[in-house]
Amino acid sequence: MAFAYRAGQLCAEDVALEDLARRYGTPCYVYAQSAIERAYREFAAAFEGRRALVAYSVKANANLAVLALMARLGAGFDIVSGGELARVAAAGGAMDKVLFSGVGKRESEIAQALAAGVLCLNLESEAELARVEAVAARLGVRAPIAFRVNPDVDPRTHPYIATGLRDNKFGVAWDDALRLYRQAARLPHVRVVGIGCHIGSQLLDVAPFAEAAARLRALVEALAADGIALSHIDLGGGFGVRYRDEAPPSPAEFVRAALEALGPRAETIVVDPGRALVGAAGVLLTRIEYVKPAGAKNFVVVDAAMNDLLRPALYGAWHEVLPVREPRAGETLTVCDVVGPVCESADVLARERRLAPRAGDLLAIMTAGAYGMAMSSNYNTRPRPAEVMVSGATARLVRRRETVEELFAHEVALAC
Ligand SMILES: *Cc1c(COP(=O)(O)O)cnc(C)c1O
Repeated sequence: MAFAYRAGQLCAEDVALEDLARRYGTPCYVYAQSAIERAYREFAAAFEGRRALVAYSVKANANLAVLALMARLGAGFDIVSGGELARVAAAGGAMDKVLFSGVGKRESEIAQALAAGVLCLNLESEAELARVEAVAARLGVRAPIAFRVNPDVDPRTHPYIATGLRDNKFGVAWDDALRLYRQAARLPHVRVVGIGCHIGSQLLDVAPFAEAAARLRALVEALAADGIALSHIDLGGGFGVRYRDEAPPSPAEFVRAALEALGPRAETIVVDPGRALVGAAGVLLTRIEYVKPAGAKNFVVVDAAMNDLLRPALYGAWHEVLPVREPRAGETLTVCDVVGPVCESADVLARERRLAPRAGDLLAIMTAGAYGMAMSSNYNTRPRPAEVMVSGATARLVRRRETVEELFAHEVALAC
């Protein structure tokens, strides 16, 4: 376990979170390197003997130290913006393992990706195909492309993170896919290299994932019959993690089910996990400012807030909250809502938890490595948290805390 109690103290690998709070302050994201490595290797091992690429979905956690670690492990990268492309390059990621997804790529982003030599642009509309052809023609290159098709499979997840249904903004409609591929195959500045899909996030069942793979297979076979051969099949990401009492299938179970649905094939199989690689590897460390009794329960006001970790406010997401000092047997616990200082009623990080809170104590908000810092903001002019990477007994600051002055450094106070 990357995070466990040792001698009454919650630790990240071999470092006490108490020490990290003293050194780097709170709120602070803490990542356990071994947990990221373990998760990546689980995916890689699931493809043993198959040509495959595990492409980390950068939007889950884009810190350069995380990206550099992925690059060292041999991962590819699934990106959704020119900004993410620049991050991957800065972290030493291999450009020929980058897949560029996203429904709204700008011309400049397409040009940036083609100049960098990415593996593939995942296209989501006919208009985007025309734009890529034009940009590639201008640059005098052939753009490697895939279409993200919408398999119309219900992922049975939260509606905000379901992406593979017909009425969703993502992907090209199933019934349009063949026509678009034929059209792309005739264009002089486009090279058709793959196909992709991504049905949603926090999947807790292999069936919809395998169903999407089976639907892709039918399309790949229809394309082959048409003389359009592909180099890769991208099954997407979305592998669920355990936040509370969920029992997500293992990477091996997801991969096995999908490979079975695909049958024996020569194409490289791509997956793009985000959450499953980094979610459990991170915690948000926060200090209790006040304990405020309110009838039958307590409000525990902490120094982290919805701007630091948006998931509870945005999705009603549940994160485990652990006291950093291990509770003693028989300690009196009270029902508490853990809330932040932001001026919104939605600024609740955890509801109705049994804690023995004291002002000044530290709490760890668990499984916060994915879509935590990545979705943070400066709402209420709050500097975003520091980020720390722990490996064994070594802790290193991988993003220093912002200063308040930095938050308005780009603004102009008009004099009159
Ligand atoms: C967001 C996204 C992912 C990653 O989703 P997770 O739930 O974090 O695994 C993978 N592929 C695409 C195309 C995405 O947009």
